[in-house]
Amino acid sequence: MRTSQLFISTLKEAPSEAELLSHKLMLRAGLIKRLGSGLYTWMPLGLRILRKVEAVVRQEMNRAGAQELLMPAVQPAELWQETGRWDVFGPQMLKITDRHERQFCFGPTHEEVITDIARSEIKSYKQLPVNFYQVQTKFRDEIRPRFGVMRAREFMMKDAYSFHADLDSLKATYDVMYGAYSKVFTRLGLKFRAVAADTGAIGGDGSHEFHVLADAGEDLLAYCPTSEYAANVELAEAFAPAAPRAAAAQAMTEVDTPKQTACEDVAALLGIGIDRTVKAIALVTTAGEFVLALLRGDHNLNEVKISKVAGMSDFRFATDEEIRSNLNCPPGFIGPVGINANIRVIADRTVAAMSDFVCGANKPKLHLSGVNFGRDLPEPHVVADIRNVVNGDVCPDGKGGVLELCRGIEVGHIFQLRTKYSEAMNCTFLNEQNTLTPMEMGCYGIGVSRIVGAAIEQNHDARGIIWPAAMAPFAVAIVAVGYHKSEAVKAAADQMYADFTAAGIDVLLDDRNERPGSMFADMELIGIPHRVTIGDKALANGEVEYVARRAGEMQKIALGEALSFIQ
Ligand code: ATP
Ligand code: MG
Ligand code: MG
Ligand code: MG
Repeated sequence: MRTSQLFISTLKEAPSEAELLSHKLMLRAGLIKRLGSGLYTWMPLGLRILRKVEAVVRQEMNRAGAQELLMPAVQPAELWQETGRWDVFGPQMLKITDRHERQFCFGPTHEEVITDIARSEIKSYKQLPVNFYQVQTKFRDEIRPRFGVMRAREFMMKDAYSFHADLDSLKATYDVMYGAYSKVFTRLGLKFRAVAADTGAIGGDGSHEFHVLADAGEDLLAYCPTSEYAANVELAEAFAPAAPRAAAAQAMTEVDTPKQTACEDVAALLGIGIDRTVKAIALVTTAGEFVLALLRGDHNLNEVKISKVAGMSDFRFATDEEIRSNLNCPPGFIGPVGINANIRVIADRTVAAMSDFVCGANKPKLHLSGVNFGRDLPEPHVVADIRNVVNGDVCPDGKGGVLELCRGIEVGHIFQLRTKYSEAMNCTFLNEQNTLTPMEMGCYGIGVSRIVGAAIEQNHDARGIIWPAAMAPFAVAIVAVGYHKSEAVKAAADQMYADFTAAGIDVLLDDRNERPGSMFADMELIGIPHRVTIGDKALANGEVEYVARRAGEMQKIALGEALSFIQ
């Protein structure tokens, strides 16, 4: 393709909406455009990248024996009522009513729809096992959409669902899918780790998540450098006392609070349990210490808002004077304020509530809402602190290793659902003994669109994105300097473009009438792995200039050897 035919719209500065580097770079490179909260258009250049990711995912799914289908995005409520998830899935589900007052949802996931297909299509063990997948738009009304396509409301997922006559068959397919996921992320050039995971709202038995390793990741992972043990800390009992954790897990089944693990980190540091509800976080027992920690700014938390203090009917807000004297704060700090420049407390009632709480004799439950534990948490500090907490908890596998912690972005998740859905929806088959039996079931998700952002978190420099080869929108950029002025440059560039194209290389010819500096800057920002520059000067010696995006060093190569060099 030629830049003259490709819609390119790059920006020098990222719009202020973007906090995370990958989000900034995606907007600056013109890959996506925001329509509304958590809603993005994939622009032509961005869509090329998304399609490359999809292609790798499709190939590995097909190789793993899964078959592609495409289910409707809009799903009737009745199916979800059969499994009870219509009421328990929670506010993430976007419910829709049609003109006949019938209820639907825009699918956040497709277990119910596929189980409905399986129960009507599969009658006998002879039709099992079977594994279906789709690549499709999902909608989840995330409590806090952010990080661009990484936590969007509308996003692209590959979801696969397998059906089996028995558990052994499910386990065999689960292992095949585990292998296929490892291949997908390896082929995409990502540094990743598979960890044991909680099954959350999807339910079921065994489960693994695949995480792209990145400091910006929302999940905290514990792993053992000397053994196979790796788990999402949501699972690792070591990080908080068991009883409050169990209560928290129960309260959390429908909840998606961003930075939940960071919150747990802090709570664990303070030796307290946390207990969540949809809009609130309750700190059980010694919450006062937690608030003190907040006020000291120890944990660099921001945007803390206390909405109410439960169990305190006679609760009163402290006076300004009490607050100042108790917190030893300078006069005039009431209002949206900064404390240690780290905590932004929204609304003066918040400060009053905190103060009262801190000086109060009893320590009731404290409900916090709008808590942003921010990815600005100073990672090394938190990680070091947690490590201190867990020091002496050896790895739960009993092999004596010591756990390490790192952050990850969840890009894949596989589950052994067992018969949770097939029993609820009467999805049965006749086994070899001619008995009606519920099917064993697995499900397997990949965040196709999230991968694009996650890859950038791992692959960038000051000049922009550096795409791993498998997802680069183009493999090579030919920058023709003076294409519109020099016959020689035009002829050489057109010929090279034709040769590369004929050789099956995804090539972008930059034939714009722009300054070389801005053409280079665009190609670097967009992240094309190889660049060949054709200009009059080098061409006079029969040469062109080659730069690898990652290494950045220029070398001269003979014009006639460019193709073999790139290949
Ligand atoms: P998270 O913990 O990040 O909210 P999840 O556990 O809710 O993800 P799953 O139900 O396991 O997500 O869905 C399968 C995959 O879909 C996830 O592994 C992730 O890669 C992707 N995904 C989930 N939610 C989003 C989202 N809001 N935006 C983009 N991708 C998402
Ligand atoms: Mg979620
Ligand atoms: Mg998750
Ligand atoms: Mg998940």
